[in-house]
Amino acid sequence: MKQPILTRWLVMLGVLAWLVSCKPEADFRPLDTFFHYQRITEIAIDTTVQKDFIAGIDRIDVPLALLYAKDADGNRIDLPDHLVQYLWEEVPLPDNHFRFTERGTYAIRAKFGQVLSAPVTFRVHGHQDIKLRLSVDYQRAGQPYHGTYVADSLTTARFSIGAWIGNKPIQDRSGARLYVNDSPLPDTLFTTRHPGLYTFKVRWQSIESNAIVLDARSPVKRLVIDLGLDARYFYADGKTRLTVELTALDENDRPMRPTPDLTLTQNGVNIPSGSVLSTQEVRAFTFRATGYGLTNQQVTINSVRDETFRVVRLPVIFHVNTSAYPAFTEKKVADMLAQVTQIYRGQYGVERPRAFNSADAYVEFYAAETDPAGRPLPQKGIDAVPLPQRKYTYYKSEDMKVLTDEAWKYYWNPDYYLNVWVTQIEEGFSFAYFPAWSTNLEGTSSYTKPEQPNYTFGTFFNYDHTAGVLAHELGHNLALDHVFSGAGYELNGCSATDPDECDDTPYYDRTAYQASMGSNPYQRTACDGTHFISSNVMDYFHTYENSFTRDQRRRMRHTLDKAYWLPTRFNNPNAPNGRAGLRVPNGYIQKPSQTVNMKRAI
Ligand SMILES: [Zn+2]
Repeated sequence: MKQPILTRWLVMLGVLAWLVSCKPEADFRPLDTFFHYQRITEIAIDTTVQKDFIAGIDRIDVPLALLYAKDADGNRIDLPDHLVQYLWEEVPLPDNHFRFTERGTYAIRAKFGQVLSAPVTFRVHGHQDIKLRLSVDYQRAGQPYHGTYVADSLTTARFSIGAWIGNKPIQDRSGARLYVNDSPLPDTLFTTRHPGLYTFKVRWQSIESNAIVLDARSPVKRLVIDLGLDARYFYADGKTRLTVELTALDENDRPMRPTPDLTLTQNGVNIPSGSVLSTQEVRAFTFRATGYGLTNQQVTINSVRDETFRVVRLPVIFHVNTSAYPAFTEKKVADMLAQVTQIYRGQYGVERPRAFNSADAYVEFYAAETDPAGRPLPQKGIDAVPLPQRKYTYYKSEDMKVLTDEAWKYYWNPDYYLNVWVTQIEEGFSFAYFPAWSTNLEGTSSYTKPEQPNYTFGTFFNYDHTAGVLAHELGHNLALDHVFSGAGYELNGCSATDPDECDDTPYYDRTAYQASMGSNPYQRTACDGTHFISSNVMDYFHTYENSFTRDQRRRMRHTLDKAYWLPTRFNNPNAPNGRAGLRVPNGYIQKPSQTVNMKRAI
């Protein structure tokens, strides 16, 4: 039984194999299936395919397919796509693929027999149809940042590129390129150390996005070339050594640490910050700083030979209420004047920090030896006087009037003596009058000399003040103003013009100094941002008070040459070197009916 059954199965398999191998190329379906096709009344194209294309960018080759075919009753009928034609304007699409590459709108229909589908619209766009949008956000140290873009390489601009055809985002934006100032940018992150205006745009062939303009601000507000002093000269003596420091200040005028990329040149040659300058040649040195978009920072300093002058010696008489201030002795006077002389000769405190441009004023002071009647003074330099009050208050005008009236009683001819009235002045001040010039000087006017002095030219000295204060007040007598703007409690900040008419004395904001007086109270920050150690006699507060400068000397020398009421050759040609003669004509000055309010300083 087994054999015949097996044989029969083998025969059936052979027939089946023949049937399969002989399957015709045409669809092989039962006739009732074709009968079903004839019942089709509605066909629809599958619209889930990509229908928007960009010519030249997208590959345009879409196989078309039906979504469904239905009969009149709405029954779906499975209809193979190769039996369907796809038409554009009655023309069949080859291979049933959409492959148009010309810009345009294509309404495609499917056709089966007499049945037409609803049209499906395909669009082939040109580049001109692309819409590009560029946007940006900022990060600093990994955090979102909304402040000013700073060109310090720490602020990153992150660009986002959007591209649309109509309202539809284009997924593949690889054709879009980001440009900065017309140069391609390799990625969408931007950071720079170079300040300036940067214009960002996206381009995709001929299409451009909106522009984003980035104003990359310099992190450096200004560059300061610091020579230790804002002077324009130093001595060509081979000994004076300047340290040239370049500092970058940020928005808040704080030095930047670490110092960013900066270049410092000396006469066109690069030098490191901190270089030392010293020379025996007389010449100009120009330093220029560049970096972070700042290019015009320049300082010129000249090396100069110092001048020499004739020594002027000024006799000083102290009118002292000796019963009230017994400690104000001949020795004290001698010691103070010796120190004041050292200060004016540039010999005082030379071991301490001192302005490198300090100058010898060639002025000396000594205690008067005789009174106007020619009598030797019991104590050199001291005129013992009775004053009705022990104390006078500077900011009380009636006190000052009383004190001035007292001074008129004890006022020796100023052509022969420099007068110093000694008492106690409340508020802890000493004060002094400025001189009257026959020929004017910067910041002053010339003056016609009356018959006799019409103000108490000289110094009012607080009995317990130091020789440094005396040197300061005598500086006022010799035409020097404060190196800063203001006097006493008056705080004028950084004035628009140099307050003392001396270019070689830096000036500073006293309010800021007092607020930030730090570990080194001798340190100052000048109004131009440079730093210096205060050593000028005409400063206040912590100062080594061992320096005058050349410009200050120029004012003093002009005063010695041209001002009235000083014991100088100009006023007293018969007493060489200002020394008082034995008998002084008009030795005791009387208060005139008309006095003037001359400028005085504390
Ligand atoms: Zn003063």
